[in-house]
Amino acid sequence: RVSIALFTADLRLHDNPALHAALMDAERVVPLFVADTGIRRAGFAVPNRAAFLADSLADLDASLRARGGRLVVRTGDVVEETCRVAAETGAEVVHIAAGVSRYAVRREDRLRTELGNDGRRLRLHDASVTAVPPGALTPGGKDHFAVFTPYFRRWENFSVRDVLPAPGAVPVPQVRSAGIPRAESLTPTGPGSDQGPVSPGLPAGGESEARRRLRAWLAGPLAEYEDRGDDLAADATSRLSPYLHFGCLSATELLHRARAHGGPGARAFVRQLAWRDFHHQVLAARPDAAHRDYRPRNDRWRGDGEEIRAWKEGRTGYPVVDAAMRQLRYEGWMPNRARLLAASFLTKTLYVDWRVGARHFLDLLVDGDLVNNQLNWQWAAGTGTDTRPGRVLNPLVQARRFDPRGEYVRRWLPELGGLGAEVHRLSGLPEAARAELDYPPPIVDLTEATARFRRARGLD
Ligand code: FAD
Repeated sequence: RVSIALFTADLRLHDNPALHAALMDAERVVPLFVADTGIRRAGFAVPNRAAFLADSLADLDASLRARGGRLVVRTGDVVEETCRVAAETGAEVVHIAAGVSRYAVRREDRLRTELGNDGRRLRLHDASVTAVPPGALTPGGKDHFAVFTPYFRRWENFSVRDVLPAPGAVPVPQVRSAGIPRAESLTPTGPGSDQGPVSPGLPAGGESEARRRLRAWLAGPLAEYEDRGDDLAADATSRLSPYLHFGCLSATELLHRARAHGGPGARAFVRQLAWRDFHHQVLAARPDAAHRDYRPRNDRWRGDGEEIRAWKEGRTGYPVVDAAMRQLRYEGWMPNRARLLAASFLTKTLYVDWRVGARHFLDLLVDGDLVNNQLNWQWAAGTGTDTRPGRVLNPLVQARRFDPRGEYVRRWLPELGGLGAEVHRLSGLPEAARAELDYPPPIVDLTEATARFRRARGLD
């Protein structure tokens, strides 16, 4: 008997219910990945995520080879290719992790029908994209939680299934494979695909790297996460988000491991994992919130092209915002605090539509995904689930609080490298010293900008 384990956003051997079930079900298993032309056409396959994906596939293949198997890779429409491999190998069942996006659900429907036409079956498994599945917790009479704190209270008491071990051996039948794709072949080509290069500081993808980082994280920095997680210069967050995004780690395992660790650092970290699940259950119930305001505020957003360009390029004249935006370009990643203040600056201070910023983030973030990106943007813009939608983060106050010595700013803005803590108070420098800096003046006055936002939202 042969079955197929179709990998999608679960590029790992540890704690992989679909792979586990395939191995229990059959003597030989085809571990299959289809480089899906449908996803590439949808504009999500940007260079940073394509490079991370290529690493993750190569690592998965190496781990399978160490167990006597290998990863079978095909390119094309995921449903057609899976049916083709099923016919070639005589596989009766295809095992797949249940997806949470609309695209994934459509893919499952099509697979079920097409495989069924040939007398084959599709079996869905817990994907552990989230630790607690969307829809598992609901407030009385409603289909999702709109406020985080009550959700978190219920979420904390939800018991998560046990973690599955990685398989010892994976016997694969004879089957043709296209081989591990290169990153470029995973991005769309042709007109309109001018997506820029891979960020030079991009992290390496793959389950092995994820597990190495997880071990290091649990062994040390996690204990201090509560105190240092927001400290921009300390770089003291886990940086596990891209590994969760591609399923190189399961959210279930991460939650188990953090809970077992215990202590205030682990508790604060677990709370962040709950935010991820919270956003997933919002978007599952309100898929339109990926593109439309979750709570419409009748905004008449501004569209100043020059200001938007300055924000994207990190030359707004507000050092902490510019440092954040340059880190994004260089690493394809930024810590949550940097994302928050960059997003607040664009949507509230410049009063530009959150969708403009969300698109830019999705073009660069290695962990970029519709759920967390769009809903965090809406949170920052005050059109989402923030219970204080009118507050405006002041980038100077934020900078002094989360980068008190200016180290983060100096790391990303070498043109300010000669300054000390006054890096956050450029307006206080003598005129001659300010003029000598190769750094632009602020593109907006904070007091006027905040007043503009508050007027527009009818808050005054
Ligand atoms: P840690 O601080 O170590 O946290 C652990 C994990 O908790 C993270 O890996 C992440 O999975 C989860 N988490 C932490 N904060 C949040 C949050 N606010 N919302 C949801 N999950 C969270 N996260 C993404 O994974 N993809 C995105 O596209 C994304 N876009 C964002 C856009 C904006 C404007 C903002 C404000 C936040 C966004 N986030 C996104 C959430 C968060 O910033 C990142 O998950 C986090 O910075 C990743 O770094 P880390 O792994 O070191 O996090």
